[in-house]
Amino acid sequence: MIGPRRWPAHPAPIPGEALSSWLHRIAACYGIDLTLLGDDIGFTLGRSAADDIDMVPPSGMIDVLTERTGVTVDRMRQMSVDGGVPWLLDTLEPVPDCFETYARQLSVLRPPGTQNTRDVPRWRPWLLSPHLPTRACPECVAASPSPHPYLLLWAIPIVSSCPVHGCWLEDPLTARGYFGMWELEPPTSRPAPEHILTLDQRTHDAFTIGQVELPRRNVHAGIWFRLLRTIIDELSCPISGSRKVVTDLIRQVWAQAGYRTRDGQAFWYPYEQQPEPVQRHTMEAAATAVMLLENGSITGLGNDSDLFRPVPDSVISDGTPPPQPPTRAPFLPIGERLSLREAFTAAVEDARVNPAGARTLFNFAAYKHNDADQIHDVVNAFIELAIPLDFHRTTPNR
Ligand SMILES: [Zn+2]
Repeated sequence: MIGPRRWPAHPAPIPGEALSSWLHRIAACYGIDLTLLGDDIGFTLGRSAADDIDMVPPSGMIDVLTERTGVTVDRMRQMSVDGGVPWLLDTLEPVPDCFETYARQLSVLRPPGTQNTRDVPRWRPWLLSPHLPTRACPECVAASPSPHPYLLLWAIPIVSSCPVHGCWLEDPLTARGYFGMWELEPPTSRPAPEHILTLDQRTHDAFTIGQVELPRRNVHAGIWFRLLRTIIDELSCPISGSRKVVTDLIRQVWAQAGYRTRDGQAFWYPYEQQPEPVQRHTMEAAATAVMLLENGSITGLGNDSDLFRPVPDSVISDGTPPPQPPTRAPFLPIGERLSLREAFTAAVEDARVNPAGARTLFNFAAYKHNDADQIHDVVNAFIELAIPLDFHRTTPNR
């Protein structure tokens, strides 16, 4: 037993740290391990405790930790994958049609609706087994004291590099969070190419500030994660039966990335079920696709490819005055009423171009809906209606 209530001394969590990493470091302060720390706060932690905690902390654990450390519930929730609901993933529990909903509503490289419908039972974006990957940035680890903190993002195969140090993540070949081998023999970090670092910086931004800067506009984190997963799907799907313009485009991206088309895979598996090297190559191909879209080397055939289109350097006017935007009376004349359908259409049109209108509509749609499932339905509806979610900012401690 290390203390009845508030722990007198403990390290503060670092930005992006996984919950299990922080608990490891608190336990180390008292010279105990995670299991004993769990006993102290009334939770029996098994052998896979670190993965369980980083996926979904046991019910009630966060409240006890808040009491012991003073760190807020919101802050702590962001230290597990569960805190990514509903932006990173709609829900932690797999639901029917989740794959089509998440990975097929947007389109970048391929025309919309041209891939075979896939029913992937128990699919969740970015995650496969309860065991999270063990990768880490060798430079981040070398720069921190033992026990070295590790980031939640390293455990999700949605990034492959460290934008801070410009290097690939590496596998320490031990259980996640243990870096003994690296302390004995520090690995040589390998520089990652610029387009990978750019992609991963955006994903870091999505996690940390809730939005991502693209050439033509900022997009909400929820849109970014789905855009990225969409591009991965478009690169992974079979190309047989597709129009030549599509197959040429997909082949060009893979060739530019330096790999065979679809990394030579004969059968289709969702990204989450691909072997680790195939996942890595597919993410490289996705980063390559974004680079080629943004430098104008390729043109996407999907509805959302414009997001990656480069902004023209300058527009030279020929003297013609720009067209006036259509004017709309702010209020209807007295006595005129919109039908419900007309009112809804007007609200959606306004929300597409007006963040304040989008916020109002979101708040209205989400009124009294407090659980993640209901909120994610609203988010999906916004995505379907092409209403940007930019208005939604995460709070500083989330
Ligand atoms: Zn690093």
